[in-house]
Amino acid sequence: MSHIVVVGAGQAGAALVAKLRSEGFGGQITLIGEEHVPPYQRPPLSKAYLMGEMALERLYLRPESYYAENGIDLHLDETVNAIDCADKVVIAGGHQLKYDQLALTTGSVPRRLPGSIGGELRGVHVVRTLADVDAMVPEALEGRRVLIVGGGYIGLEAAAVCAKRGMQVTLIEMADRILQRVACPETSAYFRDLHRSHGVDVREGIGLARLTGESHVTGAVLSDGAELPFDMVIVGIGISPATSLAEAAGLEIDNGIKVNALGQTSDPSIWSAGDCASFPFRGNRIRLESVQNAIDQAELVARNMMGAGEAYDPHPWFWSDQYDVKLQIAGLNTGYDRVVVRGGVPLVSHWYYAGERLLAVDAMNDPRAYMVGKRLLEAGKSPAADVIADTETDLKTLLRA
Ligand code: NAP
Repeated sequence: MSHIVVVGAGQAGAALVAKLRSEGFGGQITLIGEEHVPPYQRPPLSKAYLMGEMALERLYLRPESYYAENGIDLHLDETVNAIDCADKVVIAGGHQLKYDQLALTTGSVPRRLPGSIGGELRGVHVVRTLADVDAMVPEALEGRRVLIVGGGYIGLEAAAVCAKRGMQVTLIEMADRILQRVACPETSAYFRDLHRSHGVDVREGIGLARLTGESHVTGAVLSDGAELPFDMVIVGIGISPATSLAEAAGLEIDNGIKVNALGQTSDPSIWSAGDCASFPFRGNRIRLESVQNAIDQAELVARNMMGAGEAYDPHPWFWSDQYDVKLQIAGLNTGYDRVVVRGGVPLVSHWYYAGERLLAVDAMNDPRAYMVGKRLLEAGKSPAADVIADTETDLKTLLRA
């Protein structure tokens, strides 16, 4: 009987094995994960779960019983140490597993602050796993002072939760503006104002010189020389694709595990999907760090492992919740040369164009703009900028044009 082994039991790994079964794969499936809990959703970790508003079981993607009921061997708390591509063997702990096809859905690891500047002090947290968040919740108490390092989604979502929990929040972003890597200045300004209106001290163009404290963090020295006291620190300074296993196995790496349009690595028996995989997209090679990509790419890989031969054609979307604002993003803004603003605070959308071509939409509390933008992008339609900017335009009519 054919055996598919999947290494990495996050969103992508879980989607992959479920798809194999729902598409009728009748062979043996093994899913191996390093954590001790069954596959769970990560997005709530920096939102409802950190807020204490979501029970652990609701995080699980499927009930634990699902895996046994569907003939999926779920190995939890198990680290894969090596892959022997020649013999098609995965080595985990003391034992070996023979595979016919292998998928690497190893995800990514959060960047950490170096130990030399206090990154290893107690009270310094990253937000990636359930264990990370479980460790920080008891410290995130009303009145305490928290420093958030990094103004990406992790930092901003954590700042919103900490402010709602009644903490005193300072957020530093090394770049000129928060969300610089992923959004236009207009979207950055919207969220800067939102956070400041909730009392968060947002400081841009400011890095961290070092953290202070003996064993537990007690404060920070910022790059402008400011010295401030803190009770805890949350670090959201980006992630790196988890490629070490693939690299040691001799697979090609290029800002992630290099896959072709089918999701196949440089070894045709080994596939990859999710945060860790870099794939061809519009003449470039990219990685997409999102739940949507983890699911869609993993499901495509599952079908291709069964011989479908389909190329990946992603339609990216993202979302973020901060306070009472829902940010929904459709498309990828890479290469934009102008932004068209539709509406005004609090219900506003930012439409990214390259020349006349629509690339992406950021919609703040405007689900209609998001939905129409997403469908326009999927249909390859680019409405004129002045039509979008005119709030008299009924967006839905653009779908029929
Ligand atoms: P991110 O989007 O890469 O943002 C990290 C930010 O921290 C960057 O703006 C970075 O600036 C800044 N930074 C780096 N080093 C710093 C330092 N020493 N001091 C101050 N600022 C510093 O990554 P993230 O927010 O950590 O999120 C991790 C991943 O999870 C991302 O892929 C993110 O998209 C994903 N995520 C998504 C959501 C969502 O979609 N709602 C929610 C949570 C997480 P530079 O760019 O200049 O380095």
